[in-house]
Amino acid sequence: MVSRFRSIALLVVLAVFGLGFALAQPAIQPTVDITQVPAAAQPSAHFDADAATEAYLAMIPPAATARSNAYFEGGYWLILWDFLYSAVVCLILLNLRWSAKMRDLAVRVTRFRWLQDAIYWGQYLVLTSVLGFPLGFYEGYIREHKYGLATQSFWPWMGDQGKGLLIGLILGGLAVVLLLAIVRKLPRTWWLWGSIAMICLTMVSVAIGPVYLQPIFNKVTKLSDPKVTVPILRMAHANGIPTNDVYQIDASRQTTRMSANVSGFAGTTRITLNDNLLRRGSPEEIQAVMGHEMGHYVMHHIPKGIFFMSVVIVIFFAGLYWSLGWALGRWGERWQIRDVSDPAVLPLVFLLAGVFFFVLTPVMNTETRTQEKEADMFGLNAARLPDGFAQAAIHLSEYRKMRPGPVEEYFFFDHPSGYDRIHSAMVWKGENLQLFEKPPAQPAAH
Ligand SMILES: [Zn+2]
Repeated sequence: MVSRFRSIALLVVLAVFGLGFALAQPAIQPTVDITQVPAAAQPSAHFDADAATEAYLAMIPPAATARSNAYFEGGYWLILWDFLYSAVVCLILLNLRWSAKMRDLAVRVTRFRWLQDAIYWGQYLVLTSVLGFPLGFYEGYIREHKYGLATQSFWPWMGDQGKGLLIGLILGGLAVVLLLAIVRKLPRTWWLWGSIAMICLTMVSVAIGPVYLQPIFNKVTKLSDPKVTVPILRMAHANGIPTNDVYQIDASRQTTRMSANVSGFAGTTRITLNDNLLRRGSPEEIQAVMGHEMGHYVMHHIPKGIFFMSVVIVIFFAGLYWSLGWALGRWGERWQIRDVSDPAVLPLVFLLAGVFFFVLTPVMNTETRTQEKEADMFGLNAARLPDGFAQAAIHLSEYRKMRPGPVEEYFFFDHPSGYDRIHSAMVWKGENLQLFEKPPAQPAAH
């Protein structure tokens, strides 16, 4: 069996290398850089938010719109393909009893249950990473290059994948060992204690993310240019954020995307701008984006997001308790899985998780999008730079569809659409025109 694994892995790697060289294309560079406020968005007595929004959207070349629509809509299908592909991988592992064989190997190596679980996890993660590589490579490398969003060549990209795999081995291994121990100790109530353990693990990983995980992939430094930091910190202090640091990350190592985020939890919370935003964004745009990020911070979106995830995790574990029992009753013998505490059950767990989170896609997106909308409104009020915010929305149109239908937005958007963001900004501007009108000329002093 091991030799069969090896030959499959070799085949996959060879196929992928061939593909990689055949499909390598010159990157398409993003073209839209907005530096002027269009005429219809200038303050005037007949300022109209709809017309101002259209004027901004008209600044995006049609070819750029077509490209980002194609990229973003392709992403809808990838949700489906990712789900189906990983479901097939899980079913192969179960039905060909590869999962049972990996468990048998772990049992032969050691008699300690926790170590058996860890050894199983190592085999499982490596095997599913190899089997999942073709789709992951297409999605994360070929497609990103095709749309001009990636900056990494093959080997640095592979290096990042390797780091991700190592982190998965360590953190995933700890989670698997802990959860299986809980299942063994508490066979009737493991779903409740397991979900509590999972929530704690989620909190820990969010907390260590910006300090210990992010620097494995990118260089994170404190932003020192006072031209950028002074207005940001002024806005932060005005909004009750007691920080004196803003961070920057060299995201251009991997991508051309402009972005910023709030990350961390319980003492590690911080705002980070990426270097693409710093390089390409105008000062108003940077300030407008920071206003949005501060909204996440002030409205405690990370703790609220963790709370939401906690509810989802408890529901998932309760469903898992029921559905694992049902599925093992029907097929357990055929898959040679002894019971729920057998590590060989993991492909089934991931299969059920795949179904659960696939169905939940619109719910998860709507939860995030609702927070993003709140942050947008906070940012407009805090930064008072609606045109800077519109510029940012246009920059983000390089990888997000600007004008989806309402159903499409509900299902697939984890941020408000570009149209919605510019429109909100222009409505805000229309209600605050006095901030943008030039003061009447003073009579010259004699
Ligand atoms: Zn946001």
